[in-house]
Amino acid sequence: MKVALVTGITGQDGTYLAQHLIDEGYRVVGVLDPLRDSNIWGLDYLGILSSITLMRVNLHDFIDCQRLLLETEPDEIYHLAAQSSVSASFREPAMTMRVNTQPVINLLEAIRTLNTSIRFYHASSSEMYGRVDTCPIGAKTLFNPVSPYAVSKVAAHQTVRSYRDSYSLYAVSGILFNHESVLRKSGFFTRKLIQSAIDIAAGKRDSVSFGNLDVRRDFGYAPDYIKAMSLMLKQEDPQDFLICTGKSVTLRDIVEHVFKRVGASVEAIHIDQSLYRPNEISDIYGDPSRASEVLQWTSQHDALETMDLLVDETLEMVRNGKNSPL
Ligand code: NDP
Repeated sequence: MKVALVTGITGQDGTYLAQHLIDEGYRVVGVLDPLRDSNIWGLDYLGILSSITLMRVNLHDFIDCQRLLLETEPDEIYHLAAQSSVSASFREPAMTMRVNTQPVINLLEAIRTLNTSIRFYHASSSEMYGRVDTCPIGAKTLFNPVSPYAVSKVAAHQTVRSYRDSYSLYAVSGILFNHESVLRKSGFFTRKLIQSAIDIAAGKRDSVSFGNLDVRRDFGYAPDYIKAMSLMLKQEDPQDFLICTGKSVTLRDIVEHVFKRVGASVEAIHIDQSLYRPNEISDIYGDPSRASEVLQWTSQHDALETMDLLVDETLEMVRNGKNSPL
């Protein structure tokens, strides 16, 4: 039985990835931070809590990382743990940089010193491209990060590339564009949008405020996207890939679509300039053609279909009294 280590297993992607790897016959070991009160609700919601092994490991400690590899003998490592919020990174830039970079170096060093056959996946982000002149983003587009989160992801991404080039490790980064699910945490846009639209439709609240709704993003469905991560570790040669739908939509289109689907009045939507980010990308979408050609992966749902799936599943959760506490 192959062993997969997943850091960030309590997050949206880690939870769906763990489910996918279990279905593929892996033994899945999830890494939790010893100092965090991590919420395992998502793992329980997907019914996989009893099928995984959870370990508390300080990924900021190199010796702990080495011990983790010696004890679990993984074939594959998916490093997803991160301070993943762009907005929060403006409030806590130093923490974001530390959390999103040091464990990457420690894990790669542990692989380099103990077992170079371990395959390593890192969760890079489309935010690394920042403000670009032309879209779609392609293999030759240069990074131009505009947030502390994006800067930290560029540092981690280049570290992975450097270990791949310097030591011939199978170490890759998936550059994922926004992908959503009902397991998104409460601070994120789609979660706030869907919950507030449902509450407004039910008469539980009168209005909701958003920041800049004119920006455009390339949105997909998280359970589709995690399949690309697993495919990336099954190639003959280690390569980075852009994982995206190839189209962008305005946040306003998404908000209005969700409000209509749940029967809420769009009059309840307010714009609050204090919610604007200090620095913002106006439009970004990627070119998924290499992922399609090499990985045989394509996004199965566009942005509005993704919102329909999220709205329907959230309404089902409300009906069943299983509201997400994430
Ligand atoms: P989530 O925020 O849902 O999950 C993040 C995970 O990292 C959680 O398990 C969380 O643990 C853990 N984590 C957060 N802060 C720390 C910390 N200080 N120390 C250790 N662990 C921490 O993110 P996603 O699942 O959405 O994303 C997975 C990865 O993909 C992240 O690296 C993210 O940056 C990246 N990414 C995501 C995109 C998206 O659209 N979702 C797009 C591009 C990249 P806890 O449960 O304790 O909070």
